[in-house]
Amino acid sequence: MRLKDKRILISAAGQGIGRASAIACAAEGASVIAVDIDAGKMTDLPEVSGGRIETRQLDVRDADAIAGMAADLPPLDGLFNCAGFVHHGTVLEISEEDWAFSLDLNVTSMYRMLRAFLPGMLSRAEETGGVAVLNMASMAGSIKGFPNRTAYGATKAAVIGLTKGVAADFVKQGLRCNALCPGTVDTPSLRGRIASAADPVQAEKDFIARQPMGRLATVDDITPLVVYLLSDESRFVTGQAMLVDGGVTI
Ligand code: NAD
Repeated sequence: MRLKDKRILISAAGQGIGRASAIACAAEGASVIAVDIDAGKMTDLPEVSGGRIETRQLDVRDADAIAGMAADLPPLDGLFNCAGFVHHGTVLEISEEDWAFSLDLNVTSMYRMLRAFLPGMLSRAEETGGVAVLNMASMAGSIKGFPNRTAYGATKAAVIGLTKGVAADFVKQGLRCNALCPGTVDTPSLRGRIASAADPVQAEKDFIARQPMGRLATVDDITPLVVYLLSDESRFVTGQAMLVDGGVTI
């Protein structure tokens, strides 16, 4: 049990990587608080985890709701800020409103979560010797440029900067902070991006063609790194942007 006795909060746990991470962390012994803007997507999580996952509705764009939840919960051992949105388009196509939305959901939400949950986590680190934050970045844009990912890449690069700043500020207080940079993962939102392309069959072929391993990632390719970065096994790892991309950036 690699996460035994750890209390871990995971955002965007309704589907995709967040959901799979909640299940994987629970299977490793963590008590998981799974949050999502759409609580209806999480109704089965307590049962599939044998009661190790508690679900709560949370919009990570709502600072008051976040502060209320932080006040209501005991201090966390782990926080996985997973929520994010992929905007499609070039810099000439993104409206200022859409740009602001991407920044707010992909970056400012993490600032809000950190400000609310870090004080409790730092006190917890004094007791246990270590706590861990994981922020969801991406291979796309922030590590390697791709067409139509300017807003996404800018926000995910900002996540890496945020991660390094937090890591540097709290390294002496037992708080580690890392960023996760997955390649293309087969999740409901990816399926939505494929379905909304002019030619969905070709769009899926194009996503696969850029994968040296010849396939998309599954969520199960990503969750082992999530568990590792939230566990004490990664106790000497902080401030890193960890790639799990099937070789795209070789
Ligand atoms: P997804 O996009 O399919 O699901 C996202 C979840 O976030 C949904 O359950 C949704 O209800 C929830 N959500 C949306 N807005 C929210 C809000 N304001 N507050 C709380 N929850 C909210 O999941 P995914 O594709 O696994 O992506 C999860 C994260 O991983 C994102 O940050 C994404 O950028 C990142 N990522 C995804 C891929 C990929 O290829 N799928 C690759 C790299 C990084």
